Amino acid sequence: MRQFVVLVCTLLLAPLHGGAQDAKTLPSSDERYKADILLVVAHPDDEGAATPYLARAIYDEHKRVAVVFTTRGGSGGNDYSREHGAALADIREQEARQACAALGIVNVWFLDGKDTASQNVLNSLANWGHGTNLEALVRIVRLTRPEVILSWLPGVFIGENHGDHQASGVLATEAFDLADDPVAFPAQVAGASKRLEPYLENLTPWQPKKIYFFSDASDEKQFAGTGPAYSVREISRSQRKPYWRIALDAAKPHLTQFPEDIHKLSKLSDEQLEKLMSDPDHAWWSEPMTLIFGKATVPVQPWEAIFPDVEPRQKEPPPTVEQYSGPAVVYNVGQGPPLTLALGDPWNFYERFRQAHKLADLPHAHDPEIAVKAGSSVGIPLIITRKPGAVREITVKVTVLGGWKVISGAGKFVLPDEERIYLRVELQSPEIPEKELKGQPADSIVVSGISGDSGFGEAGLRVLLRLSALPQ
Ligand SMILES: [Zn+2]
Repeated sequence: MRQFVVLVCTLLLAPLHGGAQDAKTLPSSDERYKADILLVVAHPDDEGAATPYLARAIYDEHKRVAVVFTTRGGSGGNDYSREHGAALADIREQEARQACAALGIVNVWFLDGKDTASQNVLNSLANWGHGTNLEALVRIVRLTRPEVILSWLPGVFIGENHGDHQASGVLATEAFDLADDPVAFPAQVAGASKRLEPYLENLTPWQPKKIYFFSDASDEKQFAGTGPAYSVREISRSQRKPYWRIALDAAKPHLTQFPEDIHKLSKLSDEQLEKLMSDPDHAWWSEPMTLIFGKATVPVQPWEAIFPDVEPRQKEPPPTVEQYSGPAVVYNVGQGPPLTLALGDPWNFYERFRQAHKLADLPHAHDPEIAVKAGSSVGIPLIITRKPGAVREITVKVTVLGGWKVISGAGKFVLPDEERIYLRVELQSPEIPEKELKGQPADSIVVSGISGDSGFGEAGLRVLLRLSALPQ
């Protein structure tokens, strides 16, 4: 009856309003996919680098988390069953979805990057298809509209130093800077198209507020003070168990990656697990976990809590990040000395990357460094810049400890008549017995450029020899 009255009134009033109808509510963004935190990682199981913090954010701070895996992890070994290659990637995707679901995370996307076993971020970006995957990630940022992005630290450090990890951090940084720019991938934000329009996406430009990183470097202590520190041993108020325990239980679907550990840990009592995870030599996560501050578009202090509205403010002193003191890279060939020599990519790329993305304070190795397998070959990439008219005949000299062999790249060279020349010194590292490798310091390799009687530049790399490491 009431409906009928409303209808009659509407019909009676209609002519008076010149034919206007009730205002129609236009569709809004899909709230089911709105995230407070977007985690951008490379491989199924990488989410584990952040799960103790995510457990806190999800269960005790009621934050919504979405995850992007930039690869499906098909190139590692399978230690659980016989599937490999593309079939293994299919399994790993399911394992990752189950691991995320264990924390209540269901908004999970996989990009098209190929799992690339190398320490060089540029190998990963090349093998992934950098542009296509960046476009896809910008789309997910615009869809999920995160307040905060978390990702792997883009930089070269002694450690696992996985190129894929670094590449996911590069993409996350680029997406952070691009998603709010309406001329970046404009078809994504072209709106109000007709129904059944299959090309234009009607998303909204979006600026996340902050970006933080975590690292696979061996020495995690070097990042202390570079961002907020979160206890992994603290007991979750709502779950009544430590955050490490929630994270550990969520890692159990990753059977193709570390089945022995999962089986072993599953047999331990709560007390035994507690003891194991309190031991710094065996714990999966360091206590506390530092999330390295990248940058923010709102006024914050780097060491402040990620969500100051729900977390107590951390009153730590400002971080002191040591300034980069590696070889200077000369970009402006028109000025400065006639010839320069510096370390090439990926170090040259990262120096430019930090400048381009306003990440000058992002931690980076004080002196360029890397870890490689003892007995493997090591390449020192170099960039020589040359002013027009400068001499073209140079000598490249390599200074290295005994046991190392220079294979190529040293000696006399005539440079092409160009302003930027790439050169590579190849060395063979010494074979060292396993027991002697433990505790050995990194070896320093110094490459000098000489023109006539004087040097025109030096590039150094600290190389730590290990029992195993990803190819350089
Ligand atoms: Zn990984």
